Amino acid sequence: MERFAAVLLEAAPDAIVLVDGAGVIRLVNRRTEQLFGYRREELLGQPVEVLVPERLRDAHVEHRADFARARRVREMGMGLDLCGRRQDGSEFPVEIGLSPVEEDGELLVLTIVRDVSERRELERARRDAREALIWAHLAKIVDSSQDAIFSKDLDGVVLTWNPAAEALYGYPAAEMVGRSVELLLPDDRPTEVREILERLRRGEPIDRLETRRRTRTGHEIDVELTISPIRDEAGEVIGASTIARDVSARKAVEARRLQAQKMETLGRLTGGVAHDVNNMLTAIVGFGEFALDALPHEDPAPHIRSILRVTDGAAELTRRLLAFSRQQVLTPQRINLNEIVESSMLMLQRVVGRHVRVEKALDPTLDHVLADPIQVEQVLLNLLVNARDAMPGGGSVIVETGNAFLDGSYASFDAAVEPGWYAMLAVSDQGVGMEPETRARIFDPFFTTKEVGRGTGLGLATVYGIVRQSGGHIWCYSEPGEGTVFKLYLPVAVDRCEPGQPPPAPLEDVRGWETILVVEDDPTVRDLMRRALESAGYRVLEASDGCEAVDIARAHAEPLHLLVTDVIMPGLRGPDLAAWVGEARPETRTMFVSGFAGQTVAHHGLLARAGRFLAKPFTPSALCATVRQVLDEA
Ligand code: ADP
Ligand code: MG
Repeated sequence: MERFAAVLLEAAPDAIVLVDGAGVIRLVNRRTEQLFGYRREELLGQPVEVLVPERLRDAHVEHRADFARARRVREMGMGLDLCGRRQDGSEFPVEIGLSPVEEDGELLVLTIVRDVSERRELERARRDAREALIWAHLAKIVDSSQDAIFSKDLDGVVLTWNPAAEALYGYPAAEMVGRSVELLLPDDRPTEVREILERLRRGEPIDRLETRRRTRTGHEIDVELTISPIRDEAGEVIGASTIARDVSARKAVEARRLQAQKMETLGRLTGGVAHDVNNMLTAIVGFGEFALDALPHEDPAPHIRSILRVTDGAAELTRRLLAFSRQQVLTPQRINLNEIVESSMLMLQRVVGRHVRVEKALDPTLDHVLADPIQVEQVLLNLLVNARDAMPGGGSVIVETGNAFLDGSYASFDAAVEPGWYAMLAVSDQGVGMEPETRARIFDPFFTTKEVGRGTGLGLATVYGIVRQSGGHIWCYSEPGEGTVFKLYLPVAVDRCEPGQPPPAPLEDVRGWETILVVEDDPTVRDLMRRALESAGYRVLEASDGCEAVDIARAHAEPLHLLVTDVIMPGLRGPDLAAWVGEARPETRTMFVSGFAGQTVAHHGLLARAGRFLAKPFTPSALCATVRQVLDEA
């Protein structure tokens, strides 16, 4: 038995150390020698603390003293996490179990020491692997997020920048990392980043801040930012993460809703007033006529006749107000807008006078619409009078018609559009044009920029009311100093028995890979074009004006397949830009887009060089289709 005990002791896989009440090692086994790197005789008689790292020795001594005082050792299974110290000073993780041993009235402590290096190593490897996996997942989530996600330090310097951030702001990560987010500030809010960083330093998160930022191409976008401080292990704020979302589309929808509400309210108000006034006018006219009847026939009754004449004028005013409020009685018929234009030509020409020429560009295949012909004539008249007023020095007005398919991506200024076929009527002039602030209010009743007595501000309000009451849409495009075009879209009449025209067949393949330089000064339109073309596979370079386009074309060493340019822009214009590109890069094809009707652009002599033309407003699919056509014409 004794012999077996000795064998067991020596064969044990754990170190076994017997320590007396004073902490002196009395016995060790072979494993102890291997584990701690001592020979047995070096250990016997030594304080057990030699096996403990120096930094833990004091605590160990105290512990042991406690046990000695209590003359008791709490039995303990393996599980006490400690550190062992080898003779060479190196440390390794151990688990320890203790049990008291009574020998001749002396209390000894049997200590079992197990080397757990391997287990710890395994655990750590597992933990690391899991962490790596989590990081990889997080990175994937961030990479594939639709929202721009980036991080910055407390000086605003960008540390990480995900692909959605690249897409939103236009800066590739390689360019943005290491630079300050102040780069993204529009000129009118220079201190915003500093204020945000100040709040972050105080540990305040920022929830859904709606603001504006400038992209790499210089145009401003509406964004919603959620910014959270990032803390280190000690809880100190060391930076922040930002989630940015493009809310331009939502803003546009909101603006449209507000606009629709405004028109609705104005309509109800003016409609109500007009109704009441109309009733009063009816009474005035009625009693006026009774009064006339009561007089002898030969009495000229100049006062009563004046009253009746003025009342006529007042009735005309209320009629217009009712038209705006979409409450007038319409007598819709199946009509062809071409015929209305033809038949009112003489009248229109007379109204605008000799120094303004009215020209027609009518599409013979134009579809019929359901509308009140008298009202359409009224619309034409109002638009032509405005065109005349905009061209005090004379010029020409073009009345153009054509069929158009509008889909959901066409949004008029105050309403969503029912997808389908529309007959378009466009009136373009070469007049003074409008600033955006004016253009935003032209349909408001009584909004006029004309001198008192000349303008009533009811012309376009009436047009708006008539078009909307007929289920149509109106769209206005204007450039100060260049001219204005109004485009009206009336839904085509569909016979109950015959099916309507099908939507245009989706073109087989409108996708491509070519590089296209898009030049357009209106950031919203440019953004739309970029998105449409990129989603069709094209590589898109953007410029906000002709000069920038020249710079980009110069710097771009690879092939440039197509230039898609707006016609009228500040600085270098579309046609001049096209001419320059034609010289510098003869392989590049050209395509123009413009808010002016096709005929108008040609007429204004704006297109010096032949190029394909696409009229605004266009849909993304129409853009891609035309682009494909132009590229395939090679
Ligand atoms: P009015 O002609 O009585 O002023 P309208 O409702 O017809 O009222 O037009 C409102 C305003 O819209 C005009 O005062 C003018 O500022 C602007 N406007 C309308 N049409 C044109 C146009 N063709 N060119 C430039 N400005 C225009
Ligand atoms: Mg007018």
